[in-house]
Amino acid sequence: MPLPPVDLKEQLTFLEQLLQIPSPTGYTHDAVAFVENALKPYTDLTIEHTKKGALLVTWPGMRSDHPRALTAHLDTLGAMVKEVKSNGRLKLSQLGGYAWNSVEGEGCTIYLQNGETLRGSILINKSSAHVYGEDVEKTKRDDDNMEVRLDIKSSSKEETLQAGVLVGDYISFDPRVEINNGFVRSRHLDDKACVANIVYAVKALLAANLQPAYTTYLYFSNFEEVGHGASSGIPAEVDEIIAVDMAAVGEGQTSDEFNTTLCVKDSRGPYHHDLSNRMRRLASQYEIPYKVDIYPHYGSDGEAFLFAGGDAAVCLIGPGVDASHSYERTHADALLATTKWLVAYLIN
Ligand SMILES: [Zn+2]
Repeated sequence: MPLPPVDLKEQLTFLEQLLQIPSPTGYTHDAVAFVENALKPYTDLTIEHTKKGALLVTWPGMRSDHPRALTAHLDTLGAMVKEVKSNGRLKLSQLGGYAWNSVEGEGCTIYLQNGETLRGSILINKSSAHVYGEDVEKTKRDDDNMEVRLDIKSSSKEETLQAGVLVGDYISFDPRVEINNGFVRSRHLDDKACVANIVYAVKALLAANLQPAYTTYLYFSNFEEVGHGASSGIPAEVDEIIAVDMAAVGEGQTSDEFNTTLCVKDSRGPYHHDLSNRMRRLASQYEIPYKVDIYPHYGSDGEAFLFAGGDAAVCLIGPGVDASHSYERTHADALLATTKWLVAYLIN
């Protein structure tokens, strides 16, 4: 069967909108609602929320035996207020793993308990070149030396507390989304790019009045960046899971921004050989441009499922993302290839 067409233009618009919705791990409700709204109009899909706030969608297939799941994560890197400092600025505690220099100078939003937000910037505590000279370069970017400068008139702990800031308030980083010549540049393409891949693979089938070959669960997880995303929520009965997450681009890697990638091994071990080989055959059959790669510092929701005791064949695919967990970039070619691969999987 030929692949039903994927609406790449609409997929990019959806991705751009999703990227603009803050969703640091633990504070993902708006992104969950956005994806739910995109899938709600389709009566074939049954949508549920798991107890920890992830989205589980059930999609009956032509066959109800050998059920499957596709998963991607909606949560992103971010931070929490660790401490209100005596100078009125904020010390941070990281959500997810990233180097502080990758967010230095970035704009950020603080979500207060009263529902309001404040804006600020992430800086080192010795930022001014005219005051600190060489120390600007020498200062180690760590928890103690990074701070948030709030856009409020405060130079004391009391004034910042007065503005409503509390320890534990969530902080999101500005995504700075831009699309130029097919390149999508933004923070948090990991893993919102792949959420869009799944949503638009599903839409491609539904628009063509197709059902998946097997009953398929879609699991949009909300705690991946801290490791336990898909450790619960995917029904235990599934035979196989395709985890959809970004491919790691860099020196020595085969992955790039124009291809989708099959990851056969990451730092937590190999993925399922037979299922991975089936994905290779599907890619060849439908002429989908893909690479095969190993990611040296990486874990996925597929592994979260396995390490929690899940029993299924798991493989990992996704578009190549440059500068992951920093200011990321991919290309529409990789996004289209990934969506097509998922479509091919769903109808076979
Ligand atoms: Zn990811």
